[in-house]
Amino acid sequence: MPKVTSLELIQEARSKGHATGAFNVYNLESIQAVSEGAKDTNVGVIFQLTKSAAEYGGLKNIYDLIMNCIDIYGIRAAIHLDHGPTIDMVDECLEIGFSSVMYDGSALPFDENVEKSTICAQKAHAVNATSEAELGKLVGVEDDVSVDEKEAYYTDPKDALKFVEATKIDLLAVAIGNAHGFYKGEPHIDFDRLAEIRDIVDTAIVLHGASGIPDDAIQKAISLGIGKINIDTEFRYALMRGVEDYLKANPDTAQARKALSDGRERMKQKVIEKINLFRPGV
Ligand SMILES: [Zn+2]
Repeated sequence: MPKVTSLELIQEARSKGHATGAFNVYNLESIQAVSEGAKDTNVGVIFQLTKSAAEYGGLKNIYDLIMNCIDIYGIRAAIHLDHGPTIDMVDECLEIGFSSVMYDGSALPFDENVEKSTICAQKAHAVNATSEAELGKLVGVEDDVSVDEKEAYYTDPKDALKFVEATKIDLLAVAIGNAHGFYKGEPHIDFDRLAEIRDIVDTAIVLHGASGIPDDAIQKAISLGIGKINIDTEFRYALMRGVEDYLKANPDTAQARKALSDGRERMKQKVIEKINLFRPGV
């Protein structure tokens, strides 16, 4: 298990008015890019992977690669399961040594979400790991959300309090106008709702779907209590543009390592850009 959990990194960052970046990784290059970014800035980071990343690279294989890089680069980092779909997967990750796990029951009825998220929290706490759960539904990037839909999808502050008290989770992922993927128009983050949740809920708050939220909105969200920010789409996009530019300049090349190196460098720059954005005033 890594020497730190997500919660420790987030609490340290919060004490300085900062948030911790959680980057979705799935291969050697993405893990190296996060490691280099963390080393260059001397800031703790969260490596996270989803079920589909585990299917792509192998759960244990990716975990071992991350552990090797934490050691080689001498960085402080947690390893987190993002959007764990089942308790079995939470078990599997904790057994391997993840220091942080999310069970995503946000699509379930409230009571069932409470029940499953409680199990996740208990299992994580039994091995001194951090637990994350989600309340509210992230809407699609292309959806225009009406006022009625807002009430149906967005995290209700009173429910959030009930949820956190019942489950004892450490990190609460919220739906406040954020969405996965790139936004079509300007995203509208419901800052009032976030402030209300922060005022009554005594846990670290997580922002999913941060790719494409303007920098000033991200920093405002940090000032209102967001402690962990997930970066996935933008990070993957950086890799693809690096590879694409190399291929445009070198058509018909067989230099896979050079193309991937350029992609990795773009990802590293993205990590540094986000780490700096998440620590206003440094
Ligand atoms: Zn997410």
